[in-house]
Amino acid sequence: MRIARFLVSASLLAAPALSAQSNAELMANDHYTRSHDYDLIHQRITVSGFNWDSTSFNGSVVTTLVALRSAFDSLILDEGALLENTSVVDRAGHALKTSRHGDSLVVFPAKAAGFGDTLVFTVTYRGRIKNGSGLTFITTDGMTHRPRQIWSQGEDHDNHFWFPTYDFPNDKMTWELIATVDRNDMAVSNGRLVSDVKQGSTHTLTWNQDRPSATYLVSLVVAPLAKIHDSWEGIPVDYYTYHADSANAWRLFHETPDMIGVYSQLTGVKYPWDKYAQTTVADFFGGMENVSATTLVDWLPDARAYADRPWYSYILIPHELAHQWFGDYVTTNNWANMWLNEGFAEFMPGQYWGTRLGAHAEQDYYLDEYRQYLGIEGDRSMPLASSGSNNIYPKGALVLEMLKHYLGERRFWASIHTYLATHALSGATSDDLRQAVLATTGENLDWFWSEWVYQAGYPQFTVTATSDTAGGSHTLTLDIKQTQQDSLKADSTGLKYTVPQAFRMPATIRVGTATGDVVQQVWLDAREQKVSIPLTSAPTMVIFDDGNAVLKRLEFNEPTAWLTNQLAQDADLWNRAWVIEALGRRPTDAAAGAALANAAQHADYYLTRVQAAQALDTFPAAVAAPALMAALKDTSAAVRGAAIRALSRVGGADVLSAARPLFASDPSYDVRAAALAALVRADPPGAHAVIAQGLSTPSYRDAIQSAALRAIFGVNDTTFIPKIDSMVADQQLPVHLLAALGAKGNTHALDLLAGHLNDSRRTVRQWTLQAYRFTLAGQNKALAVTQLKSAVDGIRFDDTKQAAGDLLKELQK
Ligand SMILES: [Zn+2]
Repeated sequence: MRIARFLVSASLLAAPALSAQSNAELMANDHYTRSHDYDLIHQRITVSGFNWDSTSFNGSVVTTLVALRSAFDSLILDEGALLENTSVVDRAGHALKTSRHGDSLVVFPAKAAGFGDTLVFTVTYRGRIKNGSGLTFITTDGMTHRPRQIWSQGEDHDNHFWFPTYDFPNDKMTWELIATVDRNDMAVSNGRLVSDVKQGSTHTLTWNQDRPSATYLVSLVVAPLAKIHDSWEGIPVDYYTYHADSANAWRLFHETPDMIGVYSQLTGVKYPWDKYAQTTVADFFGGMENVSATTLVDWLPDARAYADRPWYSYILIPHELAHQWFGDYVTTNNWANMWLNEGFAEFMPGQYWGTRLGAHAEQDYYLDEYRQYLGIEGDRSMPLASSGSNNIYPKGALVLEMLKHYLGERRFWASIHTYLATHALSGATSDDLRQAVLATTGENLDWFWSEWVYQAGYPQFTVTATSDTAGGSHTLTLDIKQTQQDSLKADSTGLKYTVPQAFRMPATIRVGTATGDVVQQVWLDAREQKVSIPLTSAPTMVIFDDGNAVLKRLEFNEPTAWLTNQLAQDADLWNRAWVIEALGRRPTDAAAGAALANAAQHADYYLTRVQAAQALDTFPAAVAAPALMAALKDTSAAVRGAAIRALSRVGGADVLSAARPLFASDPSYDVRAAALAALVRADPPGAHAVIAQGLSTPSYRDAIQSAALRAIFGVNDTTFIPKIDSMVADQQLPVHLLAALGAKGNTHALDLLAGHLNDSRRTVRQWTLQAYRFTLAGQNKALAVTQLKSAVDGIRFDDTKQAAGDLLKELQK
């Protein structure tokens, strides 16, 4: 699964509750694995008669399972309480006794089975769905770009809301999915398409997933879809999009076969499934790695959007593809080890980009993960392997990259191959990965797992350097302290995570001198340690952790000359970013400014130029502006965007003349959005006209319109309110802007906002409630309560009325 980043922050996803336990138990890999008394073998799932008004359908599931105990006289499947069974019969067609308890179905075999016996039975039911639980029914709803459709979402425990099954990841099965849908609709599912039979106004598609996988990966998408066919080594690779999007599909997806090839080669495991489909759907949170049939959000970039490296092609596609090995082929046995799915899926795109584009592209990828990880650590520090862990994506990716650094490429990938081969088509926990490394390399990495998988936090180093000269010889002494605190508090259940007092890792120190670099390996393993390095002349540069082998935070107050030397020489992007931040804190230092100005224009990788441009925004205009003006001509849109943003903050006479042509005609949407903001800031009298132009300029993911909407909020230009209201149709941000202007005291905006609680479009009503929750309540909770109170009685739609009532109660708490 991959959730779009801004959706994560907007929806404040709640982590599952943690149960009380000791840390020792926490480290037990199977603590959270569910026990059951049978082995699920196969399900034949038949669905038909989908009704969008009542969110219902007809279902029938033939289940084959093997008893894992003697006197097997009852069995429990997970089955949503809304599924109404009309019959449960055995293989001979005889009715079986059953009972229902909440979301469980108990089936009593006609006679008790023995250990190892096979049972087959069929559940026929009328399926009803609380929309969004297991299945999501979507109507056109007055929106453009939204055909009527249905999509499933199983992870973590939602597939039993649409068919009875064992809904936990530690039991794999094969399955068939047979769907009867309207003639104009496609039904995409897992495995191979066996048949597609037309009958009147419908057709029936039979999909066969004949290699076992976990039940949360069973999937179905029903929609009018165009199919674009591609392949990798004879395996079908298909892209299903709305017909209106099919022209953008090839450009977006055509790298998939190459990614399949790279992943197959790196892991030594050839793509393991019959086909790979990617299907786009509406209102999706991001992507879901349903086995051989990934589901993706319908945000296909247009041709221009590629200038801004869209998240979709950079992360989403390679992330979900990686799950076909990590998650689908080898699956976490329980959700407390979910980092084995998500950490690897988040790690692998960096390997793909590194393989294709080189070391800088790889470091670029993990630097982004590092920033995300530190943000999460700021909220709460949790171990990778823990129930509801909040950092499994970025920390998982960073720890695996660190493990690769430690083991080296060949030993790392050989270990990963062992892990995949040992647990093929089966499950694993964190210790299984450690054992795969042990079996492959002979290294027992229990210390690494203890620090990075089972405990929380990361090392925070404070380094001080002293250089002694005596009798012509020089000694550099580094005082290295680990300052992270083991001070995490127990939560309400008594659960407390630990942070290592001292992380143990090998690292390299590189010292520049007039006669060349001196390189020394050290083991970091103590709260405080000293390292002395003999030199033949005074140091000109000191790189602590050359090559960035350790996930860390670093404080090291160095002379500007050391930093500028490092910036000019160090190939590693993490180290460069760290140096740039350090230089950026010295805005009155001419040498720091000159180094950043040089890097902003001439660094050999675009990201370094971006970061240097950003860091210049606190420097005097005389130092920063010439370099930023030059950076506006960079071939990289990211550099141009960073330069105009920084120039806008630096100010000066050139901002207007620089921003105007960028806003008018830069090929990048992001640069035009940045230029709009710069124009509004630099020229208040001209702001209205620029905003009006921005509001009517279409762009991918509404980048330019969103910049205009944010500018309206900034300058509080309420004359745009009717225009904002008219934009509510297809975008979410205008609703939030009404709420934000309302929070600033505009009653007209508040009236319009309340009106959308009765909008005929369900999606708009949901956006409106979100605007009350996140924007209005975020800025003025008392006002949000007053407004909702007065609106709630007048809401004509039951779903919205109830949700508004719930929100009101929540806000009043
Ligand atoms: Zn994922």
